[in-house]
Amino acid sequence: MPSRTDAEIYDLANNVLAGITQNLTDTIYKDLHGSLSFGWAPALKFNAWAESGTVDGGPPQHNIVLHYELARLLYRDAEAFCSFASDGQTKRLIQTKFADDATDLLPECFTLEDCIQNMFLGSLTWVYFHELGHLMQEHGRVRNDRGSTAATTAIQELDAHAAQILTGRKASISHATELAADSEAITLCLIESARHFLEGPLVDESDGAEVFIGSVYLLTCSLACIFYRFNAGSSPQVVTPITGSHPSPIYRLERSAPHIYELTEILLKAFEFDGQRRRLVSMTKQAADLGSFFWNYSKGVASDETIHLFVKGFMQRPDFKPYSREILTVWDEIYPSIMASRHFGPPFGVMEFTQEFRDFVFND
Ligand SMILES: [Zn+2]
Repeated sequence: MPSRTDAEIYDLANNVLAGITQNLTDTIYKDLHGSLSFGWAPALKFNAWAESGTVDGGPPQHNIVLHYELARLLYRDAEAFCSFASDGQTKRLIQTKFADDATDLLPECFTLEDCIQNMFLGSLTWVYFHELGHLMQEHGRVRNDRGSTAATTAIQELDAHAAQILTGRKASISHATELAADSEAITLCLIESARHFLEGPLVDESDGAEVFIGSVYLLTCSLACIFYRFNAGSSPQVVTPITGSHPSPIYRLERSAPHIYELTEILLKAFEFDGQRRRLVSMTKQAADLGSFFWNYSKGVASDETIHLFVKGFMQRPDFKPYSREILTVWDEIYPSIMASRHFGPPFGVMEFTQEFRDFVFND
């Protein structure tokens, strides 16, 4: 199949996101007497933003904007990733260098074209839901200075070149709310995907679970690509004191991976399928690592460096403790106001830290 043209990518992206916006309007925003709009920006940037005009205590007034260039690059990344992952050399390299137990690098239940399309649609809706996540919890207000009377607040994803690099409390709040928006986005994406594949008319009952799991795998691969793209070339190290607006890609992946396999298992069981926990855990790790490997490999970073960027689980990363301590402290502080502002959304969308994780982080 010939590759899609840029114009075809914009058409597809617009159809999907206009449909989601209409659906959210009809099912949620109308009941709340609020409004949600969506639009495109033409500047050639990999960027998206979320704008809120909500009056304190009033109905949600939300606007999401994505750049055409973001949609285009998400599609081109999906194409390049699937070509990389379906190459025999890649699999041999992965098996010899990193993971001798690596399974198929692309889900067998999809053709190559389906993989590209599903990865693109997964990543596109994830970015949209990440912006929605900022708005659902009114992060603009949380980030604003106390006493600010600004009528609207906006959160930009790409401010690596911002005039002033955030430091101190502003930086910690920005990082914590980015992770909180990731949590909402993953939850909304997985629930959408489960509805589509586990109860939808598109697949017959027998292979619904395989197709759902395949779509989750591709979404996880794409998260690595998205996080590195938004990272805009800044250091992937996890450092304190926290500076800048966004967490490091590897920290975002470490947080996302368990969220993905835990919620996928819950959704499979909710639709009366086998939970397959062990498979989900290793599959999620493989997908995140493969996405990171693809991204760093294609940028020419040596393979023995990229291994440090692979998902290991927080318990294996004591060096992340100081950073996690700052995130937990600020998150606990802003949590009550976030929960008071949160307009809607399933409970799984709210970022949570287990007691085990808290003990690990706060005890030396
Ligand atoms: Zn964000």
